[in-house]
Amino acid sequence: LNERLTGVFDRITGRGALSEKDIAEAMREVRVALLEADVALPVVKDFIAFASERAQGEDVIRSVKPADQVIKIVHDGLIEMLGGEEPVPLNLNATPPAVILMSGLQGSGKTTTSAKLALKLTKTERKKVMMASLDTRRPAAMEQLETLGKQIDVATLPIVKGESAVQITRRALQAAKLQGFDVLILDTAGRTTLDEAMMAEAAEVAAISRPVETILVADSLTGQDAVRTARAFHERLPLTGLILTRADGDGRGGAMLSMRAVTGLPIKYLGAGEKVDALEVFDARRVAGRILGQGDIVALVEKASEELDQVKAEKMAKKLAKGQFDLDDLAGQLAQMKRMGGLQGIMGMLPGAAKMKAQMANANIDDKMISRQEAIISSMTKAERKKPDVLNASRKRRIAAGAGVEVQEINRLLKQHRQMADAVKALSKGGGKNLQKMAAM
Ligand code: GDP
Ligand code: MG
Repeated sequence: LNERLTGVFDRITGRGALSEKDIAEAMREVRVALLEADVALPVVKDFIAFASERAQGEDVIRSVKPADQVIKIVHDGLIEMLGGEEPVPLNLNATPPAVILMSGLQGSGKTTTSAKLALKLTKTERKKVMMASLDTRRPAAMEQLETLGKQIDVATLPIVKGESAVQITRRALQAAKLQGFDVLILDTAGRTTLDEAMMAEAAEVAAISRPVETILVADSLTGQDAVRTARAFHERLPLTGLILTRADGDGRGGAMLSMRAVTGLPIKYLGAGEKVDALEVFDARRVAGRILGQGDIVALVEKASEELDQVKAEKMAKKLAKGQFDLDDLAGQLAQMKRMGGLQGIMGMLPGAAKMKAQMANANIDDKMISRQEAIISSMTKAERKKPDVLNASRKRRIAAGAGVEVQEINRLLKQHRQMADAVKALSKGGGKNLQKMAAM
């Protein structure tokens, strides 16, 4: 994709701005690249519309090549479409046993993935896990799970021949409860194609066992079919997440983007091999890199990203020099801090900014807190962000509900912002000339 885009922009060099025509031309290449990566057509269309809009909203940055800038926009857009950079952990909040229901077509990797998950939960979370096979159809399916269980030292429900899936579910729930297991993984039967009997059985098992997680396991190599499967399962089961298997053989990642976009469900893990430890936490950044086409593009994006940060930092310094610092500026700071993982950047550009740095450090800003603060600011209206003084109790309650935080946290953020805004004002009075000189640099 990189080559394609550079090609497009080689033809249009000399012009400073990203025009609609330039963007449309670049997006045509992005479209081809996505289709080559096996992304479903409707998903490609949505993505192009989304990324084009983004690109039109961006200021053109002279120090960055337009092609790099578009790649960066596309890359970030892909990460967002894939669910963002933060992995979504399994939810195990339930009165034990927390039930995880594994659904999917036959051969998608449900049984293998059940064992992989069990191993992960046992090893890294020190959970007491039991697995039970509800696959009454495929010969030796239950023994397959039992063997895997022995291999990883995880309990399996003793096999009783002749029971229905629903009967096994009831027995498993009871056994897990009585024996004090934290987690019960139910490995369901699958058919080779979607059929009503299988769906009805899975739905009944879900109704009885009330899983905290209902996972659709799908083969990432099946491409377009995977999307159809995901849609069908999503209609019948209260799915909470996806695990895509055979990522080790999927060099393109298109199915991942499609399944995520079609279901809106988080991809929680990727199966990356036949071995029981081959389960990886889903990493949107890596998959986006894969879809765009490997290695060097990632370095390129990083470079463009640094340059963009630099330009943004300069803009910010100009505002600061005038003594202005509203909540939008704070949000920009938070985003940048998150990217850089520290308190460098803009603050470092200002003489006498050590005090502000110390204040932010004192406020104990960590990544989680930054994410919550970003959520708070993005739950505000534009006017509120410009003039936080208008925030009365009822507005704060609305924002707290929107951001999923307590009102106290909003107050804390506002206090912190006030301190920073005051510091900025003081700085601009004291060394206005200096600051302007710095900003001009
Ligand atoms: P089920 O019918 O859905 O229970 O599927 P299984 O768990 O029995 O898996 C079917 C086959 O796929 C087995 O041979 C597994 O070893 C293989 N498999 C499962 N997950 C992966 C994976 O992530 N990568 C690779 N390469 N093979 C896998
Ligand atoms: Mg199986």
